[in-house]
Amino acid sequence: MAILNWNCSQCYRIVEAGVGQSLYSCKLGWYLAYSCNNCGNIIELDSAPPIPQDIRKAILEQSGYYQLTITDNRENRIKAAQCFYGLFNLSTSQALNLVKKVIAYNGVPGTDVEMEYIAKELKSYAVKYSINKIEKSKFYINFTEIPSIK
Ligand SMILES: [Zn+2]
Repeated sequence: MAILNWNCSQCYRIVEAGVGQSLYSCKLGWYLAYSCNNCGNIIELDSAPPIPQDIRKAILEQSGYYQLTITDNRENRIKAAQCFYGLFNLSTSQALNLVKKVIAYNGVPGTDVEMEYIAKELKSYAVKYSINKIEKSKFYINFTEIPSIK
C-alpha cells in the first residue's frame, strides 16, 4: 500500500489516503481508503481499471518499479503473443508487436501487482518469464495505455 494526499470528499481538507492495486477475480483493480480526522468521513473505494495516474504514480514511487522479461526464443514469442492477444484484446499484429517491443526493451515495467497480473496469464500459456525490481530510469511503457486491460 502507498500513501497519497487526498482531498476529503466531504470537507475538502487534505487527508492521507492509502492506495493500492489488487487482483480481484482475475481483474486488475485499485483501491483508495481514508478516514478524515476533521469531519469523520470514512471512504473505502474499490474500483475497476483504469487506475488514476496520480494513484499509480504514488504506488510506483513508494513500492518500486518491477519489470517482467520474456525469455527470447521463437516458441516463447509465439506463446506470449497468444497470451497478449487475449489479455489486452489486441489484434494479432499488435500482440506480436507488443512481444517484440517487450523483448527489444528487455521487459514490461510497472507495479508489482501489474506484473503479477501479466505473469498469471503468461503462466497459463507456459511462457517463460522473470520479474525483477528495477530502477525508474528504465521505465518506458505506460501500462495503462494498453487498451482494454481486463
Ligand atoms: Zn473530511
